[in-house]
Amino acid sequence: MLKGKTRNPRKKFFLFSGTLFLIFSIFVLWFTSQFTYQRGLDLLSEKGTIKLELFVTYLQGVLEKYESLPELLAVDKNLVNTLQNPHEKDRIAKLNRYLETINSISDTADTYLMDSEGLTIAASNWQAERPFVGRNFSFRPYFEKAMRGELGRYFALGTTSSKRGYYFAYPVRKAREILGVVVIKINIDHVEQSWGDREDSFLVTDPDGVIFLTTNQDWRFKTIQQLEPAAKKRIIASRRYPNASLTQLSYVRENRDKGWQLVQVNDSNIKKKRDHLQLSRQMSEAGWSVHIMTDTLPVRKRVLWVNVMTGGILLLTYLLFLLLMQRQYRLKELSRIREKTRRALQRANEKLEVRVDARTRELTKTNKLLVREIKDRQQTEAKLRTARNELIHAAKMAVLGQMSAGINHELNQPLAAIRSYADNGRQFLEKGRLEEALWNLEQIGELTERMAQIGIQLKAFSRKTSGNMYVVPLHGVIDGALEILRPSIRKHDVTIDISIIPDHLEVQANNLLLQQVLVNLLGNAVHAVEGLERRKILVDSYCKEERVIITVTDSGAGIHADNLPFIFDPFFTTKKSGQGLGLGLAITDRILRDMNGAIRYVKMSEPGACFEIELEKAQ
Ligand code: ADP
Repeated sequence: MLKGKTRNPRKKFFLFSGTLFLIFSIFVLWFTSQFTYQRGLDLLSEKGTIKLELFVTYLQGVLEKYESLPELLAVDKNLVNTLQNPHEKDRIAKLNRYLETINSISDTADTYLMDSEGLTIAASNWQAERPFVGRNFSFRPYFEKAMRGELGRYFALGTTSSKRGYYFAYPVRKAREILGVVVIKINIDHVEQSWGDREDSFLVTDPDGVIFLTTNQDWRFKTIQQLEPAAKKRIIASRRYPNASLTQLSYVRENRDKGWQLVQVNDSNIKKKRDHLQLSRQMSEAGWSVHIMTDTLPVRKRVLWVNVMTGGILLLTYLLFLLLMQRQYRLKELSRIREKTRRALQRANEKLEVRVDARTRELTKTNKLLVREIKDRQQTEAKLRTARNELIHAAKMAVLGQMSAGINHELNQPLAAIRSYADNGRQFLEKGRLEEALWNLEQIGELTERMAQIGIQLKAFSRKTSGNMYVVPLHGVIDGALEILRPSIRKHDVTIDISIIPDHLEVQANNLLLQQVLVNLLGNAVHAVEGLERRKILVDSYCKEERVIITVTDSGAGIHADNLPFIFDPFFTTKKSGQGLGLGLAITDRILRDMNGAIRYVKMSEPGACFEIELEKAQ
């Protein structure tokens, strides 16, 4: 349902095209109907004309067959004589039989003779129940006409027989005098039986329009036009159609120039009044009108059928058109959506490009910043490197200063002592005290030995300490180290316990360097327990997974927590001058790292110090 103005152009189009189609269809259907109807009527009329002609010819044939018979009879002497002697019973009886014979031979319904008064004096049906003899038919128009000397023709229902009949009457003359009238009545019922079908009905009407012959039984004695009251009165007076209702059968609806009429038939058998095509033809000699009425129902049916077909074709065409339009619309819609999508994509693309441009610009900017930063960093790094190198140099200088101070200190003392021992020795030699002089010289010797020792230590620290690695039995190394330290151990009466599990434990190391490590650690331990009441050193060796652990534990005072971070630094020492250079642990750490080993200080719960060495186990 559409409310108000349709805004949708598609709907608007369909509404418009639908209305147009409807108007066009109505016009086409109207035109087709008109054309088909007119064409149908024309065809009906053509066919009807032919049929009517045939029927008329047939009727004429029927009438012509009897037309001359009364004229022939009128010249018969028997009839003239009987009319001249109407009271001779024998003659009349003879005439009756004669007329009966004639009637039988000529196949007419009745043949009779009337005198000039209209009284029937002889008749073929003289033996019938109700014979015509003695009856007066002067009221019949055919009698009057015959009495005027003409051939009387008439159609009527027999007043006696109530049978429809056509009458021919002819005057019987004697010289010029009309003595009477001879009449033959023919039965024309059979005419109706052989003609007519479902669609076509033949009618024969008298001049008043009363149907007296018809192939349609129900139409008999009805009229095809409005009967004037005077005419009706006349018909009743002539007793032409006794007891006939004389109702109007048809009404003219349309008069055509082509010689046919369209009439509406008021048939009681058909509920609806039906249109019939009526064609008429005058039979002037008989005084009749012959008509054919053809039902136009088949034409209307045909119109309906053509309309249905045309409507169907139109509807189909319209549906096809709609389908085509729908498809066209869809295609249009699709291309519109495509265009829209393409534009949206293009816009998105453009946006993206703008964003990419912006981002690229940002990135370029960031990149430039990064490059600058990298440059800055590189510069800073270079500066740092320079600073570090400077620092290292400064540290080296510091170490060198420290070292030179240490060496200076270490060497100055023995040098001073050597000088004093040399002075003493010279003085003792001058005094001849050789023994003392010798002792002083020995002291000088010892001091130079000590100085040489300092040199060895410095060399050991500075040289690259890596050496070839061998399978070294721990037992031998530990024994070698103890041998070196024996004088000192003995001097301070230190108890040393050694545990090697398993006994033949071997490590992957350089024998000499490992021995130096142990000498350093054991030397520090002996120094730590010096002068204490409990002077115990424990060397413990065992296997831990694929490594060998060697611990050197002493019962000394241990290392103060403040000193712990520095004990592996070179030249860190807490010992008095001349007792240590602070290189022992630093050298030990470097040697062990070179041999894939390590050293760490182990905190103990009881007093004392514990160093743990870790080395590769010999394979
Ligand atoms: P030095 O023995 O010449 O001082 P080291 O490098 O061997 O040089 O030792 C550094 C310092 O570590 C020592 O001065 C000492 O204070 C401390 N130290 C080393 N071993 C022990 C130990 N067993 N007990 C106590 N202190 C130790």
